[in-house]
Amino acid sequence: MTGIVVLGSTNMDLVAYVAHAPKRGETVTGREFRTIPGGKGANQAVAAARAGGDVAMIGAVGSDEFGARLRGTLVSSGVDTDLLRTADGPSGTAHVVVDDDGGNAIVVIPGANGTVTALAPGDETLIATADTLLLQLELPLSAVLDGAGAARRHGVRTVLTPAPVQPLPPGLLAVTDLLVPNEHEAAAITGIADPHTAAGELLRRVPEVVITLGAAGSLYASRDRAPLTVPAPRVTAVDTTAAGDTFVGALAVALGEGRPVEQALRWASSAAALCVRRAGASTSMPYRPEIDAENDHRTTVQESDQESDTTS
Ligand code: ADP
Repeated sequence: MTGIVVLGSTNMDLVAYVAHAPKRGETVTGREFRTIPGGKGANQAVAAARAGGDVAMIGAVGSDEFGARLRGTLVSSGVDTDLLRTADGPSGTAHVVVDDDGGNAIVVIPGANGTVTALAPGDETLIATADTLLLQLELPLSAVLDGAGAARRHGVRTVLTPAPVQPLPPGLLAVTDLLVPNEHEAAAITGIADPHTAAGELLRRVPEVVITLGAAGSLYASRDRAPLTVPAPRVTAVDTTAAGDTFVGALAVALGEGRPVEQALRWASSAAALCVRRAGASTSMPYRPEIDAENDHRTTVQESDQESDTTS
């Protein structure tokens, strides 16, 4: 039995660190170059596996050397890649320029991810054994819809990260159980800037919503109970790449273990906080013992905050 199946993308992130990003026609000399395994699907798979989940990944890597490394990263984090295809041709790549202010500009070339247009034989059988299917929008939408439909047929909970933001195909939200946008994605989908109001609007389309709010934490809303806001630990952010994916991976594990939603959100935000403290995507994702330690420590910090609030 596989607890969590991820149907999603694998990309090699090719990251150039520069003082300022080049303008059109300009050439600049950068400081450093790194190749970092990423892609929203792979990131969520690695995050969930490191958080202690039993995780399998469906998608495709290319037949190039990046493909072998992308698969290797998943395997070494404990992700089952038996149904991860190797497509003839290049792997997906993300060409990232990070400037000294921490701003970035990114070109994504789907490569092998673009070949995943539908579920392959065996994929639905695997999904049927899971309790949760994690989906994002970096694969062709036909595959995302196919996967979500299969999950629905087998009573598997679907968690959709609607990123990169784009018009959603009709019917996708109808087969989504939990939608996890960041505040910009929530605003783009609903046309409503205020996340609380946007969450209310989203609940007309899906039963449960978590809107992530960066350093401000996350907001949970469902059709069955009052909304709740969960703060994020206070940390010095070094690189927020993959914070959202780390959050979703850890959240899926905690919910799959049957933890109450507020506890699960706190634990997921402890995982994401560890990720933002370190550079990179998959390279910066924490393992379960670190998440537990961070989660215990932040409780102490918050309690002492509350004490000083009441005494001041
Ligand atoms: P995304 O990475 O998808 O843009 P967010 O920026 O909302 O999404 O971040 C996702 C989660 O990561 C947040 O809900 C929070 O728990 C955590 N996080 C992000 N930035 C910070 C930060 N500066 N400090 C602490 N936690 C953060």
